[in-house]
This record gives sequence, C-alpha cells and structure tokens, in this order.
Amino acid sequence: MVKAAYSRDTTPGSSPRTRILVVGGGYVGMYTALRLQQKLKAELGHGEIEILVVTPEAYMTYQPFLPEAAAGAISPRHVVVPLRRVLNRCRILIGEVRAVDHAKRTATVATLATEEEGAGAVQVGYDELVIAPGSISRTLPVPGLATYGIGFKSVEEAIGLRNHVIEQMDIASSTREPGLRDAALTFVFVGGGFAGVEALGELEDMARYATRYYHNIKPEDLKWVLVEASGRILPEVGEEMGRYAIRELRARNIDVRLDTRLDSCENRVAVLSDGSRFPTRTVVWTAGVKPAPVLCATDLPLNERGRLKCTAELTVEGVEHAWSAGDAAAVPDVTAKEAGKECAPNAQHAVRQTKVLAENIVASLRGQPLKEYVHAYVGSVASLGLHRGVAHVYGRKLKGYPAWLMHRAYHLSRMPTFNRKARILAEWMLSGLFKREIVSLGSLEHPRAEFELAAGGVPSRPLERRHEDPPPRGRERRRGQAPGAAPEADPGEG
Ligand SMILES: Cc1cc2nc3c(=O)[nH]c(=O)nc-3n(C[C@H](O)[C@H](O)[C@H](O)COP(=O)(O)OP(=O)(O)OC[C@H]3O[C@@H](n4cnc5c(N)ncnc54)[C@H](O)[C@@H]3O)c2cc1C
Repeated sequence: MVKAAYSRDTTPGSSPRTRILVVGGGYVGMYTALRLQQKLKAELGHGEIEILVVTPEAYMTYQPFLPEAAAGAISPRHVVVPLRRVLNRCRILIGEVRAVDHAKRTATVATLATEEEGAGAVQVGYDELVIAPGSISRTLPVPGLATYGIGFKSVEEAIGLRNHVIEQMDIASSTREPGLRDAALTFVFVGGGFAGVEALGELEDMARYATRYYHNIKPEDLKWVLVEASGRILPEVGEEMGRYAIRELRARNIDVRLDTRLDSCENRVAVLSDGSRFPTRTVVWTAGVKPAPVLCATDLPLNERGRLKCTAELTVEGVEHAWSAGDAAAVPDVTAKEAGKECAPNAQHAVRQTKVLAENIVASLRGQPLKEYVHAYVGSVASLGLHRGVAHVYGRKLKGYPAWLMHRAYHLSRMPTFNRKARILAEWMLSGLFKREIVSLGSLEHPRAEFELAAGGVPSRPLERRHEDPPPRGRERRRGQAPGAAPEADPGEG
C-alpha cells in the first residue's frame, strides 16, 4: 500500500511552495543541497521553497578516505559528514526512494517508520527533482562471490574489513592447522582501480605493522594478491604511474596479476583465470561500479550502461524539471576530443558538477539561461599505504612520499566542513606521535551476542562461531538484501 505524505502547503492565502526533492545524500546530493540552501536563503526563509533530501543514511561518506579509515589512520566517524548539521535549512528524510514517476512528479519512498509500521511506502510530491543515487558495486556471476565477497564502498564495509583482517591474524596466530592458517593469512583483492589498490595498500601496511605484536606471524607469512582483468592498474594516474604503482606493490611482495579474472571463490578457495588457486577467507571485490538500481524504477531515460541520459547543463534529457550529476548521470564530456564521451564516475566530476547543477536550478527557477558543465579531467592522486603514493595531476607526475603527501593534502582540502578537516588533521598529527591501533572491534557488529548468552537466550550469532561467518556487508543488509543472495549479472558496463 502506498500512502500520500509530505504534501505541499496548500493553506489558503499561503504562496504555493516549490519543493526541490534531492534523492541521495552523497557527494552530489549533499553539495547540491548545500549550494542551493546558500543561494536560495531568502526563498527558504520566506517558505517559498523547500529542499527535501531523501537519503538512507544521515551522513555523507567521503569515500576517498575509506582506505585510511580501514587502516585505522582516520576514525570512521570523521570520514562522514552529518547531513542534519550541514544542511540545516533543508529537510532530511531518512529513507530510500523506491520509484519515481516524473510524469506525475511523485517519488515512492520507504522510510524506517514505514517499515516499522508495515505501512508500505509513502508518496512524496515535488516540483524539481535532483536524482543522485550514485552507484553500487558492479558484480559478476562469480560462484561464491555473493557469499564470501566483501565490497568496499561504505564506511561499514571499510570498518568491517579492517576488523576482519585483524581477526584473520588472530585466527592464524591461534590455530595449529596449517591449511587454516594459510587461508587466514591470504587476502585477495579483485579490481585495480582506486578503491582496490588503495584499500589493499593501506591494509597491507597496517597488517604488516601489526605482525610485530604477534609472536608467531612474520610479515612474509601474509599473502596479498591483486587481481586485475585488464593489463594495467590505476588508469586514472596514467600508464607510466600505473606501472610504477605495480613495481611498488610487487616490491612489497604483493602478488599483482594483470589480465587475470576471479573465476570462483566457492568454499573459500579463490580460483583465478590463470589456473591458480588460493585458499582464502578474504575476497574483496572492487571491480568497478554500476548505476544505482533505483534508476530502473523511474520513467527517466537511461543509456545502455544504465546511467541517466543527461545534457551538458545537467538536466535529464528530454524532460523538464529533472536534474542529475555524479556516478548516476551520463553527462557529456564537452572537453573530450572524440564525440560521445561521458564524464567518468569519480569525485572530481561529481563535486564540480554540483556547482553548475545548483546554479542552473536557481537560474531555471528565476527564468535565466542555463550554463554547461565544462571540466577537463586533471588527473589524480592515489595512496599506496603510509608514506607511499602516486600522482599525475595537471601533467605533473609524482611518486613515493611527495605523491602521498599530495594525496593527503588534496583530500583534506576536499573534505567537507572545517570541523571534519580539523579532526582528521589532528588524527594524522597524533598518529605521528603514537603507535598505530591494531585492535579488531568486530564484536561491535553483534553487540547483543554476549548478553543474549548471559541471559540464557540463543545468541543471534554464537560467540564461538563468530569467525566462521563471512564478514558483514552493511549497506546491502540494511537495504534488505539477503547476504547470500545470488549476484546480479551486469550486462551493461564491461
Ligand atoms: C573506496 C573509494 C575510493 C574512492 N576514491 C576516489 C578518489 O580518490 N578520487 C575520486 O575522484 N573518486 C574516488 N572515488 C569515487 C567517488 O567517491 C564517487 O565518484 C562519488 O562518491 C560519486 O558521488 P555521487 O554523489 O554520485 O554518489 P555517492 O557519493 O555514492 O552518493 C550516492 C548517495 O545516494 C544514496 N542512495 C542510493 N540509492 C538511493 C535511493 N534509492 N534513495 C535515496 N538515496 C539513495 C546513497 O546511499 C548515497 O548516499 C572513490 C570511491 C570509493 C568507493
């Protein structure tokens, strides 16, 4: 059942209110709403305009800092930005948009309350739609992946992975079974983009450091494997810097396998397309992204990869009053030499697009002309672990410590709010003075288990079997997808 809610103010005498509905509280959702609340301050104050942000989480995640959060260099709370505080002139609705009927200007939204009440979703009306649900991990029908694979897109996954890696070291340290020990100390990462390389680089660094506190684990006992289907890694930093990154990782004993795919990870054995087999309890899947599934439940036009067809002005093609940007949007790259190129799904475009997006929404409300999004990709920076990095920005190539420093400086400057910048900087400075944190707080994921046992109940996850379960995949679970559900094949992005 769908019931109507969040209807607009129709009190006689009151001026009709224009509602801007923002779907998603990530980069695009947060920055667009932030810029809109600054530009439309007067209208918001007079109640002529309302900005409603629908987001499943009450925070925006700064994803480029997830690898550092996983390594324990930054506390998880500091890589997220509280939306209610930042968007203090907007209304925040914690929920998930399930469908959009743009012809009728309504979105179907499931909130925590509607789920609790069993009342079904609510209908939210709007006048202007900013649809920015981003992307999700692009999976392939690899046997065992849905059961044992770990994603790396959310803060829950990053922290879950950190706890999991340390737990594996605890298992290896306490078992007498060589097979279990080897599997626990083998970590397979699939995908050589930003997320995979940075996560592997940071975690390898953290785990190697942690071995000094284990009497029976030496750094060379850890086996790290990076599996990449193409012939290069980190395409964002260019070919030369990508080759450097491979040399740097191999020098650390990381097994980088190019032109190789993961064929299966059933029964905790990673089988690669080159025939090699790695018994392992850790398979991290970072092999690309695909647009958020909600886009298929709209009447808006999608391209062959499932991204929203957009114009350079960031409107959705062929319809009025619908806007998009970021990972979900196929925005033409007007700076590209070849025709038909789209802006790549990355934070660099996402953040810059929001500036034009907010300006264009305001211009359209005021009957002014729109402007195009024009930005040539300037290159990128990536961390390969503590004090190591690689960068190719504005034609300048950097590696090692200077690149790592640049990575930190760049992302710190991009981190929203002074509050978060200051906290992260303080953490980095303190970590220079003190030793790294090497504890696993995996039990936080099941806080009631101990009490359930003490109270004579049946623990939802028995304490003694904790290590048997595959690690949690936070966002998927919260969105009601069964952890063991079969992966969805993605014919789109190849
Ligand atoms: C580990 C990692 C490292 C990265 N490092 C870099 C980097 O160094 N440089 C770089 O340029 N890029 C990097 N990226 C990519 C960058 O983070 C993304 O391109 C950027 O987040 C895209 O912004 P977005 O707003 O489109 O999507 P997101 O930031 O993902 O936001 C989408 C939001 O929509 C919400 N949402 C989804 N479905 C719904 C729904 N049905 N209803 C309501 N809300 C919904 C989501 O919960 C989320 O809050 C990295 C990504 C990852 C995962």
